[in-house]
Amino acid sequence: MRPIQMVDTKTQYHKIKTEVDAAVLGVMESSMFIGGKAVSGFADNLAKYHNSKHCIPCANGTDALQIAMMALGLEPGDEVITPSFTYIATVEVAALLRLKPVFVEVDAKTFCIDPAAIEKAITPKTKAIVPVHLYGQAANMEAILKIAAAHNLFIIEDNAQGIGNDVIFSDGSIMKTGSIGHIGCTSFYPSKNLGAFGDGGAIFTNDDSLAAQMRMIASHGQSKRYYHDVVGCNSRLDAMQAAILDIKLQHLDEYIMARRKAADFYDNAFADNKKITVPFRDAANKHVFHQYTLLLEGVNRDALNQYLSDNNIPSMIYYPVPAHRQKVFDAFGGSSYQLPITDWLTQRVISLPMHTELDTEQQTYIVNKVLEFINK
Ligand SMILES: *Cc1c(COP(=O)(O)O)cnc(C)c1O
Repeated sequence: MRPIQMVDTKTQYHKIKTEVDAAVLGVMESSMFIGGKAVSGFADNLAKYHNSKHCIPCANGTDALQIAMMALGLEPGDEVITPSFTYIATVEVAALLRLKPVFVEVDAKTFCIDPAAIEKAITPKTKAIVPVHLYGQAANMEAILKIAAAHNLFIIEDNAQGIGNDVIFSDGSIMKTGSIGHIGCTSFYPSKNLGAFGDGGAIFTNDDSLAAQMRMIASHGQSKRYYHDVVGCNSRLDAMQAAILDIKLQHLDEYIMARRKAADFYDNAFADNKKITVPFRDAANKHVFHQYTLLLEGVNRDALNQYLSDNNIPSMIYYPVPAHRQKVFDAFGGSSYQLPITDWLTQRVISLPMHTELDTEQQTYIVNKVLEFINK
């Protein structure tokens, strides 16, 4: 059996090595390391895939979120509603910009932000909602769009884990996550579903003026070279990453299918186990399984984590501490929040190896070890 990894980027690379190596050498020969055709060509292809009018590449997913929030013209103290059950980046950028992150509860089934909780948290200072498509499951965008419209709020989708997911609306229309709110943000961190060979990120919007603003912010606030109109930052996707990503983009749908196939295998194996809840399959979106995360009941989760590790199976806890309980957010009243579902989830979730290169032998071994521990 091949060694089991949480993410197997090496085997994935070897399958497209010829194309990737040629693309990287091409960039080296062109010596266009920053900007140029590799970057603009990839951005165009990704915008098309995404059905977004604008795709603005940047240095990483955290920058994408920061640039999005900078572009909205918010004032210090303005409130941004986010889930607490997320990666820290979602929330950190709001704090960095002196905005006030307001943590709300997630849905116990989808693990994504609960629309009813958003409505309850809205105040006159609320300016934006940041839904996170956690683990590759889409947040309830239909409900969130209605709330945002009713209260005149911006939506910034954190699509770092959701790229390629299709949301199916009740009128039958289909949209990709990250193209539904005013702005969508994604990450090309190597382990993400569309992963670079280093850092990278992108921002999406259909709004021409927001797009112009965000392009300007990502490039030192300059409207034309050496003319700086606003405070910006330096956030670029480099040409080698863009060239690699452009090749991987052609395989993205196939990668998503491979993840879904691996998820189906796990689902079947755990279907009858009372102590395990497998990821919720929502009729309103097609999970892209950035992570395959089990919810355990009556199982010592951390002991299972250790048991799997002892048997050479990596597993991860995403995330052991929710944002509102992080020390950094004490100053934002983090400890005053009551988010029982979030707390409950962070104590009970465990993510199993999930990537495009899992084979049946590996997955059989994984599920046998999980069940061996659980049925002990
Ligand atoms: C990965 C991730 C980010 C940040 O992306 P980077 O490219 O690592 O900066 C933000 N939000 C979520 C939910 C993520 O998973």
